[in-house]
Amino acid sequence: MPAVTSDTVLDRFRRVGALLEGHFRLTSGLHSPGYLQCALVLQHPREAEACGVEIASAVRALSPQVVLSPALGGVVIGQEVGRALGVRAIFAERQDGKLMLRRGFSLAPGDRVLVVEDVVTTGGSTRETIEVARAAGATVVGAASIIDRSGGNQTLDVPYHALATIALPTYQPESCPLCAAGTPAVKPGSRT
Ligand SMILES: [Zn+2]
Repeated sequence: MPAVTSDTVLDRFRRVGALLEGHFRLTSGLHSPGYLQCALVLQHPREAEACGVEIASAVRALSPQVVLSPALGGVVIGQEVGRALGVRAIFAERQDGKLMLRRGFSLAPGDRVLVVEDVVTTGGSTRETIEVARAAGATVVGAASIIDRSGGNQTLDVPYHALATIALPTYQPESCPLCAAGTPAVKPGSRT
């Protein structure tokens, strides 16, 4: 099996059109030289499975007993990591704005929990998911994601592993260097 590197993971993203490079106008109105959409990788079950296997092999030494993901982005990859580890995969979702376990999902005091996300940007939703597990008395042994786009700036208080790290700057349109260079911004996914 070839060694897994950030490059092979990002190549997988490029191959399925989940990582676009150019000049984009994001939904937020900001401009960016890159566009990343994990769902476009995870829509392919074989790709999702491969990402799950790779994360599982990186975190197996933490001996997690349950995978916990925040809905909606973390659900598919959480399921794949749980499958690869041979443990339960559950998810937390929002009710009245607060992330919580629903649907009869439960954690027992002392359960060793791994928090899994598709992409970590600021670490905010990861931290919130960690708190859901701790509130149930569980022990969070680590966190993992396919992509770290925090530029290494997340401040989680548990061991964290990402398959790939990528920095995608965003710019206000009026101060966008790509606009200044005269290339037109396009909406991600639009074919030109
Ligand atoms: Zn621009």
